[in-house]
Amino acid sequence: MDDVLERYHHLENVILESHPGADMSRIRAAFDFARKAHGTQMRKDGSEYITHPLASAEIVAEIGLDEDSLCAALLHDCIEDTDVTFDDIKKHFGQDVAQIVDGVTKLTRVQYTSKEEEQMENLRKMLIAMAQDIRVILIKIADRLHNMRTMEYVAREKQREKALETMEMYAPIAHRLGMQKVKWELEDLSIQYLDPIGCKEIIDGLKLRHVEDESFFSRVQTKITERLSAHGIECAVNGRIKHLYSIYRKMYGDNKVLSEVLDLYAFRVIVNDIADCYNVLGYIHEMYRPIPGAFKDYIGTPKPNMYQSLHTTVIGNEGLPFEVQIRTWEMHQTAEYGIAAHWKYKEGKGGKVADEEKFAWVRRLLESQQDSDAQDFLHALKVDMFADEVFVFTPSGDVVNLPAGSTPIDFAYSIHSEVGNRMTGAIVNGRLVPYTHILHNGDIVKIHTSNAAKGPSRDWLDIIRSAEARNKIRQWFKKEKREENVIHGKMAFETEMRHENIQMSELSSEDLMSRVLTRTSFNSIEDLYAAIGYGGISAQKVVHKIRDYLRTAEKNKKKESSLLTKLEKREEPKLKPVLGVTVEGLDNCLVKFAKCCSPVPGDPVVGFITRGFGVSVHRQDCVNYIHFEKGSEDAGRWVRVGWAETDGHVYMTSVQVEIRDRTGIVVDIASVLNALNVKISSFNAKATGGGNVIVSIDIGVKNRDELVSAMAKIMSVPGVTDVRRMDG
Ligand code: MN
Repeated sequence: MDDVLERYHHLENVILESHPGADMSRIRAAFDFARKAHGTQMRKDGSEYITHPLASAEIVAEIGLDEDSLCAALLHDCIEDTDVTFDDIKKHFGQDVAQIVDGVTKLTRVQYTSKEEEQMENLRKMLIAMAQDIRVILIKIADRLHNMRTMEYVAREKQREKALETMEMYAPIAHRLGMQKVKWELEDLSIQYLDPIGCKEIIDGLKLRHVEDESFFSRVQTKITERLSAHGIECAVNGRIKHLYSIYRKMYGDNKVLSEVLDLYAFRVIVNDIADCYNVLGYIHEMYRPIPGAFKDYIGTPKPNMYQSLHTTVIGNEGLPFEVQIRTWEMHQTAEYGIAAHWKYKEGKGGKVADEEKFAWVRRLLESQQDSDAQDFLHALKVDMFADEVFVFTPSGDVVNLPAGSTPIDFAYSIHSEVGNRMTGAIVNGRLVPYTHILHNGDIVKIHTSNAAKGPSRDWLDIIRSAEARNKIRQWFKKEKREENVIHGKMAFETEMRHENIQMSELSSEDLMSRVLTRTSFNSIEDLYAAIGYGGISAQKVVHKIRDYLRTAEKNKKKESSLLTKLEKREEPKLKPVLGVTVEGLDNCLVKFAKCCSPVPGDPVVGFITRGFGVSVHRQDCVNYIHFEKGSEDAGRWVRVGWAETDGHVYMTSVQVEIRDRTGIVVDIASVLNALNVKISSFNAKATGGGNVIVSIDIGVKNRDELVSAMAKIMSVPGVTDVRRMDG
């Protein structure tokens, strides 16, 4: 049997699983017809062309579509790519199949464009096709999904173009049709072509934590399953990492690194009936602490795309938050396949149309938009498709686009900053509403203004959602309310100072404030307070700067007061070095290097005359030197030491390397050191939790330069997050 036939038989098995009564002779006929028509055509990867319609049909079968759809999927490229005509298909497979293939062909001819005007026209064409026969768009989505899965051999430019089109058109449509599983796969495939570097970072990061994650999943899974079966609830529990694109959006949208994306994990509990869903929710909240406000009841209020589930986010015993989705098996089907899950398959003959009601929205959209231009059409479409935005209208009918959750204040500032600043009230759909009112799609919003208005209030900053309103309100405070800002800023500053345990009096000594002002580019302390007051700079940031200055100053003071300064003024006698070190005033004495900071030539050093063991050499930044007690009798034991020519002697020192645990990393570090000819005497690893490990490495180097380049090399090993010397 040839490879293609084998694939065909696999398709038959998939079909028989969902439709045991399907007429296989008809599907076989469609396969034979299409294979003959495509003849010797090849795909870019070198396989026979028919493998593509076959794979598309398999996706269509998994979605659960009917016999006509399966035939149409097998034939979908015949009109476009071969001599076969509409009438040929009609003659062999009937009017319905021919019309679906014709519909798919028309969509295939819709060329992607980045021009918004044309893009909207394309979307309109898609929706018209959908409204005529939803199966057309479902097959088109299956076709696109297979093409996206097999884009490897396509030219780069084409890859990007297809990925962009998929992201902007097919994924939102799949979402709107409730096909969550397909939507995720389309998004994950597209983003890997649109930003391969960003995705690689995520994929590599996830690989590193794979083992840890798997054990987390199985622990939580077992715990939930055990608790639920103890209460007699039959359930299936599984855990997963959220899909690539949703992690991608969180990382690059909110500017986070992978370890900062907290809700990476999602668990799904599937049960037999709705009553159990709510029972399970109760048990989960008993087991784990729920995050307030994160619970959503999509069973009571299904999403527009028919999606139903209970969502809650809880904190696990290990402090990791995770989402739990609770649903019935039927809801699960709908969540995975959306509109197609409701397909009414008629035994033997293909059912004509799915539940009309399920895509009535497409019709309504088209009806209401018949006479408007493309611009309005896209806005209307977006209203429906993009859940994180809200579209409202001005009284004159202009559309205003705001982030979801926006209030009349956001609306007012989006019109003009003066409208926001002079706002005295808001009317939504003819009704007076409070400023905290959340706007909904299609609301008509009117803002009352007055020249006597007091201007924005600081509380508004907590209510608004849009960056535009935030910036404009801050601008206003900056300009209009200087005195108030100074007071607010000063209060915030003083609170932060108390928090850090720094006295206000410390600012006047050391001339500290003027240094901070120079660093932050403010002319006066009032300007600084004002900036804190309107939110231009955070009090915390300023106080941290001050704290750091104070710490450095303290260090310096200690050094100055030490013997070192006095010793430096003296003449340096010629002394014989021991182990490359000369000790002031002592010739040929016993020298050893302090274990706490292990200095190497090039480090500024200082010596300590021990009782009976000669001179111990410390780095000047060693804590044991910085913190020695000035008044104590030992203070006089610190002596000046220096480096002499060291003629190739190797000095042992220790570096601390922080790594994300992964196999082979220690070997990688060892091999970069080896390449530098740096001697390693010991490796000592210690897990610090969260997949982090600190490795102490004892190495031998000739001097500080060699040490620095070794540290730089270690830092370049993937998985290494920090390299530092021990600090005594
Ligand atoms: Mn195709």
